[in-house]
Amino acid sequence: MREMGSGLVDPVADLAVREIHQRARLDPSRAVGAVRIAVELFGERCICLAPPRELPGPSALVWAGPEPVIHVRRGLNARQLNHAIAHELGEWQLHLWGYHGPDAEELAGRIGAALCVPREAFHVAHRAIGDDVAELSRAFTVSESLMSLRIGECLGHPTALITPRRIRTRGDAWDWPTTSAGWRELAAGAAAAGLTRERIGDAWRRFVLRASAALGSPKT
Ligand SMILES: [Zn+2]
Repeated sequence: MREMGSGLVDPVADLAVREIHQRARLDPSRAVGAVRIAVELFGERCICLAPPRELPGPSALVWAGPEPVIHVRRGLNARQLNHAIAHELGEWQLHLWGYHGPDAEELAGRIGAALCVPREAFHVAHRAIGDDVAELSRAFTVSESLMSLRIGECLGHPTALITPRRIRTRGDAWDWPTTSAGWRELAAGAAAAGLTRERIGDAWRRFVLRASAALGSPKT
């Protein structure tokens, strides 16, 4: 399945972040993390730790009463926990909107990432910290992969996160390859193509290709 264009998803994710923060009475220019957001929305007891084998994934949204309960796998680290709960809050927002399309899971992930790193809070941190991905990731308690993609979304730089299993692109449109051979070629000749190539520091065999400006798609 083709990924939805970032141009379509980013405003939806931003809207979700605004609505969720409004309902939680929190300020999106100060990132407080998904645990705090969930507690403000659903109360202290809304997060339930489950043994790893009981859940098919890291987390699940469970409706046992009027408010949902978020089940998360025991043993997640702080960054994984933040991401997992943010993803479930994304699912909850889509549920409120009555959206159940085939891309709902992907969309919940995009909302989750935006919830961990709200656009306003990103710009505040970026002014203070600059482009240091490891430092920005620490500031928001997220993985460097998530932060690298959010940098693309918040600053618009065309960005590709390459992992052994999949490639995700974010930011402004760019003439990305359409075949695995094309990606290999681009990764090998990144500088010649006007891209920076950066290794992800907290996960194996992942790297980011980033352009400083969009090519081939003049901004309107
Ligand atoms: Zn999900």
